[in-house]
Amino acid sequence: MQKIIAATKNKNKVKEFKEILPDFDIITQEEAGIDLDVEETGTTFRENALLKAQAIFEKTGIPALADDSGLEVFSLGGEPGVYSARYGGEGLDDRGRLELLLKNMEEVEDGLRGARFVCSIAFVTEEKTYEAEGSCEGEIIREAKGENGFGYDPVFYVPEMGKTAAEMTSDEKNSISHRGKALRALAEMLGN
Ligand code: IMP
Repeated sequence: MQKIIAATKNKNKVKEFKEILPDFDIITQEEAGIDLDVEETGTTFRENALLKAQAIFEKTGIPALADDSGLEVFSLGGEPGVYSARYGGEGLDDRGRLELLLKNMEEVEDGLRGARFVCSIAFVTEEKTYEAEGSCEGEIIREAKGENGFGYDPVFYVPEMGKTAAEMTSDEKNSISHRGKALRALAEMLGN
């Protein structure tokens, strides 16, 4: 199995990487004994994914897989977008960010609450850099529902599944998610 290092400290992302790419030996930064916070100075998901994967590959020499992702809400002009993890400032946790989003959308009518999750993947190896993207469309509901997943999953309702991402099993979420689509596209490029 090809060894890959996950260029993220987000345990939820690592869990999904492992579920979606079972044919790769994915190790964490902690397991590799490195403690590096790569600053996300890019203005696009693609730039940030590349920054993270390149930095971790340079530090470890192990093929590095990074994901930069976020939620684009159409009625908010694409916010929080690349700032999804920092929406509302450093003081908020996942729940706080989700509540801020609901508050900022109080006046947005039903039918105009469309959004999409976007995921850019960068995979940097000695020989080559691979990039892939995936997205998943849904609607922002007015109250959190479901206990699974992370981030904005409890308010992200996916019509094709009839539930929020947080009400889905891991397999269900991975089958339709932005991350699932991007990582499966990468696996195809790698011939898996
Ligand atoms: P970053 O890619 O580390 O900048 O952070 C992405 C942020 O987008 C996460 O912290 C979440 O807030 C949000 N996000 C990305 N993917 C998901 C997902 O699958 N479910 C819920 N929230 C997500």
